[in-house]
Amino acid sequence: MLLKRSSSDVQSKEPSQAQSSPWIVQLKRGLTHALPTVDRRAFLRRTGLGLGLGVGAGLIGSQLRLVQKADAADTLAPGASGSKGVVTRRTICTHCSVGCACDAMVENGVWVRQNPVFESPINLGAHCAKGAALRDHGRGDHRLRYPMKLVDGKYQRLSWDQALQEITDRLADIRKESGPDALFVVGSSKHNNEQAYLLRKWVSFWGSNNCDHQARICHSTTVAGVANTWGYGAMTNSYNDMANAKVALYIGSNAAEAHPVSMLHLLHAKENGCKVIVVDPRFTRTAAKADKHIRIRSGTDIAFLFGVLHHIFQNGWEDQAYLDARVWGMDQVKQDVMAKWTPDKVEEVCGVDGDTTLMVARWLHENKPGTVVWCMGQTQHTIGHAIVRASCILQLALGNVGKSGGGTNIFRGHDNVQGATDVGPNPDSLPGYYGVIEGAWKHYAGVWGVDY
Ligand code: SF4
Repeated sequence: MLLKRSSSDVQSKEPSQAQSSPWIVQLKRGLTHALPTVDRRAFLRRTGLGLGLGVGAGLIGSQLRLVQKADAADTLAPGASGSKGVVTRRTICTHCSVGCACDAMVENGVWVRQNPVFESPINLGAHCAKGAALRDHGRGDHRLRYPMKLVDGKYQRLSWDQALQEITDRLADIRKESGPDALFVVGSSKHNNEQAYLLRKWVSFWGSNNCDHQARICHSTTVAGVANTWGYGAMTNSYNDMANAKVALYIGSNAAEAHPVSMLHLLHAKENGCKVIVVDPRFTRTAAKADKHIRIRSGTDIAFLFGVLHHIFQNGWEDQAYLDARVWGMDQVKQDVMAKWTPDKVEEVCGVDGDTTLMVARWLHENKPGTVVWCMGQTQHTIGHAIVRASCILQLALGNVGKSGGGTNIFRGHDNVQGATDVGPNPDSLPGYYGVIEGAWKHYAGVWGVDY
C-alpha cells in the first residue's frame, strides 16, 4: 500500500531516486488510494505528512534533510494533548466570494492539513471541491517560489535582492525615458484590503493612475448600476441572510457551480418554504434546485424583469408605502414599463409568455421578503449596468431592499472583489471612492503625510 513504506526507505535512496520514486510522485498528486489498514487519525496524519514529504522532495531537489524533518514530527490535531509543532492559522478560501473559513495547520512552516471551520456563519463547516483543494494554491507543483529571470530562453533563479534591484532599475529607466504613465500595474481582487490599498498608494506615489484589477471585467457594471440606484455599489445583504428569504430569484447566477457553499443557505431557506426561481438560458446545476426554471433568450434580462414588473404594477402589487417613503422616480419607471413592456412584447423579445411572467410576479408579491441574486450572467453583457438597475428597480418596487431575507445578493467572483474595489487599485478613484479630483488628492496627500 501507498503509505506503508517507512521514511528510512526514502532516506536510504539517492536523492534523484527518491524524487522519481512512483510513491513520491503519487503523494505529490494527492492520495488517491484507499488505506483500509489505517484509522482516521493515522490517515489524516499520514496524509499531511505524505504530502509534505512529496512536495518537500519536489521543492528541494537533492536536499533530503527536509524530507526527514517532515517525517520526524508526530502531530496530532491542534488543541489535542500531545500536539507538537503544529500551528493553526485561520484563513479564508480564496477561490470565490463566499469566503469560507478554513483552518490551516502549519507544521514547521509547511501547510500540512486543513479543516473547514464549523463556527463560521458563512460555511458552517462546509467546503466545496475548490475549497478542499485550497492548500494546493500555496504549494502546488506549478507555483513560483522564488524570482526567476528569462535569460537566453531559459529561466534562472535570482535572489530577492537581485530581483528587486533589477526591477527597480528598469522601472526607473522607463519612467525617466517615457514618464510614469508608461507603466500599468495590475492588482488583484484576491489581494486583501491592506494589500489592495498599498498597491493603490504605490501607484499614486509612482505618479500615475494606471492600475486596475479583475473587478473591472466582473462587477464594474454592478457598481455602476447599484451605486446609481442607492448610492453604494455592493451586495446589500449577506450569504447567510439568504436563509431568511421566502422567495429567491436567480437571474444571471449559477451559484451551485460558481459559489457552491452559498447554496447551503438557499437550501436552508427552501426547508423553510422559500420558492426558488432560476432564470437562465441553460439548465444549470442551480436550475436543478429551482421550483421554476425559466429559459430566456440570452441578454434579454431587462425585458423579462420589466415584464414581471408590468404585472406587479397592473395588479397593484408594488409596496406603495415603501415607495412613497423611500424611492424617487418609480412613477417614470412605471409609465415606461406599462407602455413598452406588455406581455406580448416581452414574449417577442425574450421568449417567455405572459402567464410565466405573471406567475413570477405573483410569487414575488405573495412571498416576502424575497431576494434577487446575480453574478456574471448579468454583469458581462454590454448592457450589464442597465440589467443591474432593472434588478434593483424590481426589488425597490416590491419594498424588498433594506430587509433581512431581501435585498440584492450580488455574488462577486474572487474573495475580495468588494474590498479591492472599495480601497484598491482603481484607475478612476483613490481609496474609498474619492475619485481623482484635486480635493481627493489633497485629502490623501494629508493621509499619507506628503505635500499636495
Ligand atoms: S464556496 Fe467558494 S469560498 Fe467556499 S470553499 Fe467553495 S470556492 Fe471556497
